Amino acid sequence: MTSSFTTRSGTRIAIVGAGIGGLTLAAELRRRGLNPQIYEQAAELREVGAAVALSANATRFLRDRLGIGEQLAEKAADVDGLIFRDGRDGRVIGRVSSRRDYHGRAGAPYYGVHRADLQQMLKQAVGEGALHLNKKCVRVEDGERSAVLHFADGDTVEADLVIGADGVRSRLRRELLGYDDAQFSGCHGWRGIVAPEQTPSLPDPEAIQFWMGPGGHLLHYPIGSGEQNFLLVRRHDGPWAEKSWVTPAEENEHLAAFEGWAPAVREMIGAAPAAERWALFHRPPLQQWSRGRITLLGDAAHAMVPHHGQGANQSIEDAIVLADCLIDGLEQGTGWDAARQRYQDLRADRVRRVQITSLATADVLHLPDGPAAEARNARLGAADAWDRYLGWIHEHVADQVPQPVGAVG
Ligand code: FAD
Repeated sequence: MTSSFTTRSGTRIAIVGAGIGGLTLAAELRRRGLNPQIYEQAAELREVGAAVALSANATRFLRDRLGIGEQLAEKAADVDGLIFRDGRDGRVIGRVSSRRDYHGRAGAPYYGVHRADLQQMLKQAVGEGALHLNKKCVRVEDGERSAVLHFADGDTVEADLVIGADGVRSRLRRELLGYDDAQFSGCHGWRGIVAPEQTPSLPDPEAIQFWMGPGGHLLHYPIGSGEQNFLLVRRHDGPWAEKSWVTPAEENEHLAAFEGWAPAVREMIGAAPAAERWALFHRPPLQQWSRGRITLLGDAAHAMVPHHGQGANQSIEDAIVLADCLIDGLEQGTGWDAARQRYQDLRADRVRRVQITSLATADVLHLPDGPAAEARNARLGAADAWDRYLGWIHEHVADQVPQPVGAVG
């Protein structure tokens, strides 16, 4: 049987995927009086053993819109600056910003947080009665009068708008495009979380740090529990031949791949089993973020490699801008199609820039020794490194946008 629901406006908004973007959108729409419903394939909202770095361009909205600033401050680590190091000898190449500087310039904190904690906070912000678990969307029938979502358990739901917030493996993106356009980025990685007592020689444990070297890098940052979350990245020769994007790793292969790196690097990565190897995939920019009644958000719209740590942050920016566009469209009576087009117009250039620079960042971090690496080091060590490379991402305020053409006031 097909079930249905309505919002304040009478419009039925279905969100597919209760990840970071989908939950943020649902929380913001509900806060503003609409009643979207979220359909999530997982049986429970839990992402164990992984964390996320949230920068000011997103934490400002979690604090000022969703009202979870205090919970975040309690659970997350407030990162103290961003440091670039040589991965082999450990020397500091560039020290960009400090906690105080960052708050002053970007207007909100830079946090490292457990994903499970963040999801719980977002779930609470959404409130009761909107989240449907064990609902894997397998197909959307996009009709003239409504869309029908089909789930793996045989259930169906009718909606007027369908938001595809279903992540990097998005089913809805495939519905919209008609094919799977995932591209292997040429890098694979290992992830881990280690306790402070396992990294006694780590310098600057409160900072987010990049350790750079030919063909690879280590990125790590503190999370609220006092632990360090790390992502270790290596160039991968040739295409990704495995069927799955996550494959079992051989014991200590990550340590072997970083032979000869600084003792603090090897101490950190050696403390975690890193039992899985992750292929890093991304997707090319889309021409159209909506088709029929479907609109994409977050990784589904613009999956990117994690070298700027921006995927989740951009999903949060998307969610706030889409909520604003939908509410404005409702209040001004301009219609859902105009609202969704405006959302794309406001977001597409920004995320395209972040996608491209994230991809290019791997090349810069992985330079072989030589003049190009020396020139990079000089640029990262210069006083204007923040303004040149990071300010435009972290200081961006996604809801401060030009008025729509023809708006009064
Ligand atoms: P997701 O958070 O992936 O949520 C998608 C949801 O949809 C999931 O809950 C999934 O179960 C559900 N779903 C999928 N298919 C269906 C379906 N058919 N039906 C119903 N539900 C479905 N980003 C950062 O900003 N900072 C970082 O530090 C960072 N580190 C990263 C490290 C690594 C190794 C990787 C791979 C990524 C990292 N990212 C980081 C990126 C970040 O994880 C993603 O960009 C972010 O989670 C995207 O949010 P989303 O809401 O679009 O999708």
